[in-house]
Amino acid sequence: MKKTENNIDNSNLIENWQQVSKQIHQTSDLAGRQVDSVVLLAVSKTKPADMISALAQKGQRHFGENYLQEALEKINTLKSQPEGKGIVWHYIGSIQRNKTRDIAESFDWVQTVERDIIAKRLNDQRPTELPPLNVLIQLNIDNEESKSGCLPEQLLELVTTIKAYERLQLRGLMIIPAKSDTGAFVRTKQLFDEVKEMHPELNGWDTLSMGMSGDMTEAIANGSTMVRVGTGIFGARA
Ligand SMILES: *Cc1c(COP(=O)(O)O)cnc(C)c1O
Repeated sequence: MKKTENNIDNSNLIENWQQVSKQIHQTSDLAGRQVDSVVLLAVSKTKPADMISALAQKGQRHFGENYLQEALEKINTLKSQPEGKGIVWHYIGSIQRNKTRDIAESFDWVQTVERDIIAKRLNDQRPTELPPLNVLIQLNIDNEESKSGCLPEQLLELVTTIKAYERLQLRGLMIIPAKSDTGAFVRTKQLFDEVKEMHPELNGWDTLSMGMSGDMTEAIANGSTMVRVGTGIFGARA
């Protein structure tokens, strides 16, 4: 494992990122989809701000973070740099009730909303001078007791609830499927399309966040519009 603390090898980083981007384009093309139909979210958790800055300089726009304190520090650091200005920040970690204000104030997207109590707090706490917070519902597509996410049978109700919140813009679904669940992508895409059909008034319903470093090609082949890649770009995490 490479050490990244003070001697960051940014050439390697850029190379990885270009490789992943190319793979996304090729897979989209093979699946008969537009090459720009899949957004790459660079998952930068545990990685330093200068790696984010180096990628942003090359044109990477979307970054995902899991740990709130660490994320807030990086967001703050990058705010003061010209490269940091265009960054779109996604919160992809689990959400504790007492952390919603920081999330609502500092992020552009939240991908891990799974129940109304959290959605309501984010809505109430989203500052009025900012645009509505983009929200994905995290779906527990495997129906596993121990896993986070909204259960599929509760999805329609949660959609209806969040839809009514004016400071939230509901954009779609996110999943982290179990490895063994080979049908997860297909089932999630079906649910995604069902909601779209039932709610034609949901203009922003356009994002299906599925696929990570290990399974992004399969996810893209099955309709993903956003892949979340950490290791594949930044290397292994400590
Ligand atoms: C860490 C993380 C990723 C990235 O995983 P890799 O396997 O490193 O690509 C994607 N999504 C979520 C929710 C994560 O927590």
